[in-house]
Amino acid sequence: MDKVLARNSEENRQVVGRFAPSPTGPLHFGTLVAALGSYLLAAHCGGRWLLRVEDLDPPRVIAGSADDMLRLLEQLGFEWDGDVVYQSHRSERYRQVLDQLRSRGQVFDCNCTRREILASAPHPGEEGMVYPGTCRDGMKGGRSERAVRLRVTDDVICYHDGIFADQSQNLEREVGDFVLHRSDGLFAYQLAVVVDDIDSGVTQVVRGADLLSSTPRQIYLYRCLNEAVPEYYHLPLAFGENGKKLSKRNGDFGVVTVENGAQMLWRALDFLGQQPPAELSATLPAELLCWGRNNFSVAAIPAENRQVEF
Ligand code: GLU
Repeated sequence: MDKVLARNSEENRQVVGRFAPSPTGPLHFGTLVAALGSYLLAAHCGGRWLLRVEDLDPPRVIAGSADDMLRLLEQLGFEWDGDVVYQSHRSERYRQVLDQLRSRGQVFDCNCTRREILASAPHPGEEGMVYPGTCRDGMKGGRSERAVRLRVTDDVICYHDGIFADQSQNLEREVGDFVLHRSDGLFAYQLAVVVDDIDSGVTQVVRGADLLSSTPRQIYLYRCLNEAVPEYYHLPLAFGENGKKLSKRNGDFGVVTVENGAQMLWRALDFLGQQPPAELSATLPAELLCWGRNNFSVAAIPAENRQVEF
C-alpha cells in the first residue's frame, strides 16, 4: 500500500511539458526553436512531452499543415507522449468551463466594437487596447454580436520566468477584462490554452517570448479556476532580416524541411545557446537531439531576441 502511494505521489510530481503549434503553415525555424526548447527542457527534467495542435481559429488554419508538421517532427526524431490533442475537438469542454465561470459571476457579455474600445483608450494606438470595463454592469443597446469577457481585478500579477526572470502586469490597467469567447463564436486562445494545459496535467510551459505578456492573463485564469499554475519558460524569438518575427506568417524564409532538418536543428540548438560542436552539423537529426538531451543547459539560453540569417 505504501509503495503504491509513493509511486503515485512521484507520478504526481512528474514534469509534464508540451509543444502547442498553430497549424497556420509549414514548420518554421521559430516554431522549431519552440519545439526543441520545450522538448529538451521536459527531457532534461525526466518529464513527459505532449503535443497539442492549436487549430482553434479556422480562418487561420491551413489544411494539411498540422499533419505535415507532425510528420516532419517525427522524421526529425521528436517523440511525444500520448495522443495529439486537437483544440478544434474540445469546444464542449471550453463551453463547460465558461459556464462554470458564468455561474460564479466572473464573466459578462460585451457588445462593444473594437472601434469603441479603441476610442476610449487614454492614448489610442500607443498602448495596445485596454478594455475600459464598458459592459461590466450590463450592455447598452447596439450590435447583437457579443463577446464574453473575464472580469479582472486591479492587482499586479507577478511571475518568475525561467529565462526572462521576473515579470509583472496589472491586468486591469494594462489589459482590462479580457475576452474568453469571441463575438464571432470562437473560443479565445487564452481560455483554450489554460483549459487544455489543466486537463493534460501540464506543469511546464515552454514557448516563444511573444507570449510573455499573455501569461499574466493565463495565471489569473488559473486562479479563477482554483488550479495550480505551471512553471513558465519563454524562449527568445528569432527575427528575420526584415526585423519581423520569424514565423509561419513570414513567408518561406526559414522553412524547415527533411532535407535541411539537421542543419536547422543544429542552428536551433545554437540559437538556444547550447553551443553544439561544429562537426555535428553534418550528422543526423536524431543524433543532434540526443546530443541536445545529454548536454542541455537552461542557464545557457539567452534572454534576448535575435536576428537570424538563412
Ligand atoms: N499556438 C501558439 C503558437 O503557435 C503557442 C501557444 C502556447 O504555447 O501557449 O504561437
